[in-house]
Amino acid sequence: MFNALENYNRLQSSLPSDVVLVAVSKTKPAQAIELLYNAGQRDFGENRVQELTEKASLLPKDIRWHLIGHLQKNKVKYIVPFIHLIHSVDSLDLLTVIDKEAGKINKVVNILLQIHIAEEDTKYGLNESELNEIIIQFNEGKFQHVRICGLMGMATFTENQAQIIKEFESLKGYFDHSKSLINSPAFTILSMGMSGDYMLAIEIGSNMIRVGSALFGSRT
Ligand SMILES: *Cc1c(COP(=O)(O)O)cnc(C)c1O
Repeated sequence: MFNALENYNRLQSSLPSDVVLVAVSKTKPAQAIELLYNAGQRDFGENRVQELTEKASLLPKDIRWHLIGHLQKNKVKYIVPFIHLIHSVDSLDLLTVIDKEAGKINKVVNILLQIHIAEEDTKYGLNESELNEIIIQFNEGKFQHVRICGLMGMATFTENQAQIIKEFESLKGYFDHSKSLINSPAFTILSMGMSGDYMLAIEIGSNMIRVGSALFGSRT
């Protein structure tokens, strides 16, 4: 049996104090979340809107929910009222829809821009010119109902450490570059690193890690 509580305590006590752990609870039952909640964890990540809204309705209201998976535009309205941070903003169109839906309910939604750093073309994310275009439009004041808090990225799924390092370094480069250009004091978060690579990610400058299987065991 995987002991999520033991894994959690070990991981949490090994993290530098400025690194936020997002416990990725996708596919795991609400009870698994409650177990870590009772140990003090408040940030939880899900990758599907329906699963996220179902769990949010069952669980304590002070949980900070993170959406980490690809978000379809027609589902934005379901999460905008309560989401703490959307990590996966991967197009100008999606950002526009989030801004519009948040405006309807007079909210400012926290988001990260997801950057494509992996070799696989299956992974979502912005390229450099799309990132620059968003920063330009944001600085022009086009988006009044989103708060751009930083960047997110996923490395290639590989055993090759050198490649992962190279990809994380490129994301850190985009982060520093964007931070110097964007007119957003909230731009402070670099969401980088999962179960297999979070230690590397932290060494390269991550301050938010998204960890699932190393806490809850593998997903089937
Ligand atoms: C599932 C997922 C994670 C967590 O993956 P683990 O390898 O189980 O830690 C992190 N980020 C994203 C975007 C995910 O979809």
